[in-house]
Amino acid sequence: MAEPLSDTPAAWPRDALLARLRAAREWDIAIIGGGATGLGVALDAAVRGFSVVLVESRDFAEGTSSRATKLVHGGVRYLAQGNVALVREALHERAALLANAPHVATPLPFVMPAYHWWERPFYGTGLKMYDALAGRRGLGGTEWLGAARTRELLPGVNAQGLHGGVRYWDGQFDDARLAVLLARTAASRGALVVNHCAATGLLREAGQVRGVHLRDAETGEALTLRARCVVNATGVWVDAVRDMDREPDAPPRAPMVAPSQGVHLVVDRHFLPGRHALLVPKTADGRVLFAVPWLGKVILGTTDTPRDAVSAEPRPLPEEVAFILGESARVLARAPQRADVRSAWVGLRPLVKPPDDDGPTQALSREHTVLVGRSGLVTVTGGKWTTYRAMAEDVLARCMARGLLPQRAAGATATLPLLGAAPGLPVAEPPGEHLYGSEAAALRALPGATHWLWRDGAGGLSEAMVRFAARHEMARSVADVLARRCRLLFLDAAEAERLAPAVAAILADELGHAVDTEAFVALARSYQRLP
Ligand SMILES: Cc1cc2nc3c(=O)[nH]c(=O)nc-3n(C[C@H](O)[C@H](O)[C@H](O)COP(=O)(O)OP(=O)(O)OC[C@H]3O[C@@H](n4cnc5c(N)ncnc54)[C@H](O)[C@@H]3O)c2cc1C
Repeated sequence: MAEPLSDTPAAWPRDALLARLRAAREWDIAIIGGGATGLGVALDAAVRGFSVVLVESRDFAEGTSSRATKLVHGGVRYLAQGNVALVREALHERAALLANAPHVATPLPFVMPAYHWWERPFYGTGLKMYDALAGRRGLGGTEWLGAARTRELLPGVNAQGLHGGVRYWDGQFDDARLAVLLARTAASRGALVVNHCAATGLLREAGQVRGVHLRDAETGEALTLRARCVVNATGVWVDAVRDMDREPDAPPRAPMVAPSQGVHLVVDRHFLPGRHALLVPKTADGRVLFAVPWLGKVILGTTDTPRDAVSAEPRPLPEEVAFILGESARVLARAPQRADVRSAWVGLRPLVKPPDDDGPTQALSREHTVLVGRSGLVTVTGGKWTTYRAMAEDVLARCMARGLLPQRAAGATATLPLLGAAPGLPVAEPPGEHLYGSEAAALRALPGATHWLWRDGAGGLSEAMVRFAARHEMARSVADVLARRCRLLFLDAAEAERLAPAVAAILADELGHAVDTEAFVALARSYQRLP
């Protein structure tokens, strides 16, 4: 295979980003929230030639978008509900994502073990339909497997009472790295994207939203920017931003989102060796459970538990941990114990209940919801990572239909490669230079390319990767590096805690000021603790 062309990544010094934020001007579109949804809108709008600014109160993907099960999927379960259009769209998006970001998103084979005679024909037939819907975008055909072949493909499976299985294909990805790539690709197209900068209020004139008040989280500096169109893409936090859009004496708005949490437990690869993921389509209480090889470890999950409060760092409940370990014990030959868990992390799903106080412009659109308030504030939430690009097109279509932006044709992002796009290793393999795609040559040119802070197989975390994160990926803290540029916090929280001082020292050298480890150490300890 030919060596991919080497790309020279741009640097985004924070001073320069903030100077652009301070400039007196009007932007076409301002986006609040730097998760999958907001970043997708920023990239699409920038590619269409709009002037774009995006602010994220913490780090890119620090909310739900770094806490997914990491599947690029069509959603087999929607097929069971007969929602063919939704599955077809997601399969289309699956193909686009795997093509446009092949360094961080790759195909993944799944095996569904069958312990009852009817499971193979029942699930296999559904999955054949899934293949048919994918058509030429399919990743591999569904196959019925005998018991011996199932054991061969899933060496860690519980063989007792095993009838056989079904193999099918979907994709998987590194969610936070994809988010950072979206941010950087949008920036390379002229968008101003700034992390660690929160929206604190909306600039309203004559009942219309005309801009956003901001606070730089690092200095506390207050800023205001003006925009023709403001998009609220804050995931489970959308209601707090909608509340900023309230007339001074109006009562609080009915909430639009009901959060529900999903827990993941990470264990070593020897619990599920091989390159196949395992899917239990129906657990004892009717849920779905995945065991997914990811970056050298195995992710077990997830749950779906309604929560009243929206926390930045939700923690698992005892019954959620018991459910995941209990169900894993039924399908894995070696049952993981509490002490085997290397990291436990939780994401909040924004389940949408559209309120009726925003006038007739509200629309329920497929899995996600786009709502345009009377003030012109555009709110988008729900959906899934896999369909972020299609959601962005929907959001911009609504902005244009409402006259907030001039009409410009959609579709350019469907075939737009993200920065560094080049075929790499499967995402299931330990993290390493391959995740940088065609930017790997630039990474290797930085100081410390062979100084490994942590090693896993041929990969790990090098000093150069920390420097790359600071110079080119807008990382500002130890957590930005160890949780989202490199995923060590999610893979092995104790190891991440151990690395914190070394990462802080390299960051301090790059950023020119002292970098704290205290908050990260507390966070890493909480990821190691089970209730
Ligand atoms: C447990 C779980 C598993 C999942 N698994 C998958 C999967 O395998 N595949 C898949 O396709 N999808 C999956 N999803 C869905 C997917 O993760 C979400 O749909 C997606 O990440 C939502 O992105 P978002 O940008 O809307 O929200 P978020 O990622 O939460 O982004 C919102 C951002 O807004 C920021 N923000 C909040 N307030 C402000 C403010 N005032 N100013 C500035 N910024 C602000 C937050 O810090 C946050 O970063 C999963 C979801 C969960 C919960």
